[in-house]
Amino acid sequence: LNAIYSALPTTIFEVMSQLARTHDAVNLGQGFPDDPGPLDVRQKAADAVLNGWNQYPSMMGLPELRQAAAAHFRHWQGLDLDPDTEVMVTSGATEALAAALFGLIEPGDEVVLFQPLYDAYLPLVQRAGGIARLVRLEPPHWTITGDKLKAAFSDRTKLVLLNNPQNPTGVVHSRAELQLLADFCLRFGAYAVCDEVWEHIVFDGLRFEPLMAFDGMRERTVKISSAGKIFGMTGWKVGMVFAAPPLMKVLSKAHQFLTFTTPPNLQAAVAYGLGKDDGYFTAMRAGLQRSRDRLTDGLAGLGFRVLPSAGTYFLTVDLSAHSNAPDDEAFCLDLAKTHKVAAIPVSAFYAQDAVRNVVRFCFAKNDATIDKALERLSHLR
Ligand code: PMP
Ligand code: GLN
Repeated sequence: LNAIYSALPTTIFEVMSQLARTHDAVNLGQGFPDDPGPLDVRQKAADAVLNGWNQYPSMMGLPELRQAAAAHFRHWQGLDLDPDTEVMVTSGATEALAAALFGLIEPGDEVVLFQPLYDAYLPLVQRAGGIARLVRLEPPHWTITGDKLKAAFSDRTKLVLLNNPQNPTGVVHSRAELQLLADFCLRFGAYAVCDEVWEHIVFDGLRFEPLMAFDGMRERTVKISSAGKIFGMTGWKVGMVFAAPPLMKVLSKAHQFLTFTTPPNLQAAVAYGLGKDDGYFTAMRAGLQRSRDRLTDGLAGLGFRVLPSAGTYFLTVDLSAHSNAPDDEAFCLDLAKTHKVAAIPVSAFYAQDAVRNVVRFCFAKNDATIDKALERLSHLR
């Protein structure tokens, strides 16, 4: 049996959702919206299933989706991507991550990762033979600094894996932090794999900036997006990867033997959806921002110290401000079982030296769901 997988626990998202089902808890753990997603995009998928092509689409993705993706990211992020050679469709961002890491890492290569880290990253890096160099970010601002990067980068660094906007903290890294990271990549000849699945979900008028757009990064960055996040339909598992042709060639070789392709009907619907008016995307942001504020205000009213969330579906709470604070994991277990609200302990996003006083809540929910969770949380004190 493979030692890496044998030693792995079941992902915290599955554990907490299972616990929520068992205890009939309000599930603010795993990140998925209450909203069913845009009706027209779902209708397109249904039409494509009923009337469209249901056989293998091309390995790189439907041409119309690759074109729509290139146009979408030109419009939203100013990127100039060739749909024929620089865009690939994958089965979720998760497969894109696997293809990027398996395609780029040689055994013994060092990979710089930031903690808290999305739980899929480390096992993929390790399975590819990479050696993780962990950079520990700390609450409340989770800032990337030059000192931290200096301690992690070396001549053996093959790549850095960045998640921005960041799950679980809701941080959107500043231009200065991104410039610093780009400088390190250039100085050490490292690639950047950028998990930007939360790119559309930024608040307070923030403008998301892809690392690929920074000087010198165009040829050394792999950008990863997720239709599941762009349209708030997390079960769709349609991912998109963007990279310069020499990188894409290798990534496509990994992709061809991971999944080879992705359901064509969903691809057709995503191609349509990416062309929706700006209004759709700005309304999605505004709705989520209102939900963020509702949960933030409610939690603050109950005496919780809420850390700022500038993007994603998530906000975090610092438990150390709370009376008789247990660690985050014990807190979440008790919360789900006794008070019937599921949340995610942020220590699950650390491989070592975990921060143990922070809990993540998903606010991508109806007002009624948020209010029900708050009512249950009010009995905590
Ligand atoms: N990366 C991050 C940071 C995520 O939060 C998620 C899922 N929420 C994924 C990757 C996986 O995306 P997908 O469902 O498209 O595989
Ligand atoms: N990315 C989602 C979250 O952070 C969950 C993904 C999963 O369940 N694997 O909640």
